[in-house]
Amino acid sequence: MSPNTPGLHHVTAIAGDPQKNADFYVGTLGLRFVKQTVNHDDTGTDHFYFGDGEGSPGTNITFFPWADQGRQGRFGAGQTQTTAYGIPTDSVDYWRDRLESNGIEFEDEERFDETVLRISDPDGIELELVAATDAAFDATPWEDGPVPTEYQLRGFYNVTLAVDDYGPTETILTDVLGYELEVNVDGRHRYRSATGGPGSIVDLVETDAGRGQMGVGTVHHIAFKAESVEEQEQWRKAFADAGLAPSAVIDRKYFQSIYTRGPGGILFEMATTGPGFTEDEALEELGSRLTLPERLEDEREQIEAQLPEFDGPNVASGED
Ligand code: ZN
Repeated sequence: MSPNTPGLHHVTAIAGDPQKNADFYVGTLGLRFVKQTVNHDDTGTDHFYFGDGEGSPGTNITFFPWADQGRQGRFGAGQTQTTAYGIPTDSVDYWRDRLESNGIEFEDEERFDETVLRISDPDGIELELVAATDAAFDATPWEDGPVPTEYQLRGFYNVTLAVDDYGPTETILTDVLGYELEVNVDGRHRYRSATGGPGSIVDLVETDAGRGQMGVGTVHHIAFKAESVEEQEQWRKAFADAGLAPSAVIDRKYFQSIYTRGPGGILFEMATTGPGFTEDEALEELGSRLTLPERLEDEREQIEAQLPEFDGPNVASGED
């Protein structure tokens, strides 16, 4: 028996240049830079987290910037095609203007009676801003951000996962994670968790693009929330019972994680909602310095010397 159906916790992708990455997510989209650390499994690579004013679970998109030497990825089956943030319904005109004045091309479409602004980040990662009528977003505004608080991104709306065949991934979503098929229109299968709320939607689409290749410009994994380590252990068992091969629990300092590769090729993570980003920085200081887990502090000097040049995000308002 699995615990309550989770919503999204974070989405992690691979970027190229760290400066362009941070300038876009903070300077243009107005997310807060809530943490600069390194990839715990590859300390020569940064790990950036962007989220709401507190870096709340359900609002964080995170990146490994592979800088100049990074291999370019290729979109295909087994990957997250699009990551969508919710925006208030009365903010659509603001975002159209803001994207235009920042020179960001966008497509404007209606989907399930909601306005969707589709954009690509500097590395080609597809994003959407969805003017959501029914989502009870609970993001904490970032008072010092470049976007007025009433128009800020409100946390994840959904992710769109691309697979070569719906069936096996649908089974994991419905039988293990507890999502329910809500609608199937134009090849888009939309699943919603019974608990609802932010980030509670997952869309599946089929692609005949062949298997994707991980690299710059692709999403590495998506994480769902586990409210506690006990709940996380129940998810781990549920994945194993479904024939998947979940990892042991890994300490990511700001949360505990387990990972499992889904049958459609997508890497899923279950991440605990605590302890969160104030574990090693005060709320007002989030993202202001390179933080490292205790076990890497002795190597700080070498680690800092290896990381690519990065001056912190530029937070010019981009407005007239
Ligand atoms: Zn993760």
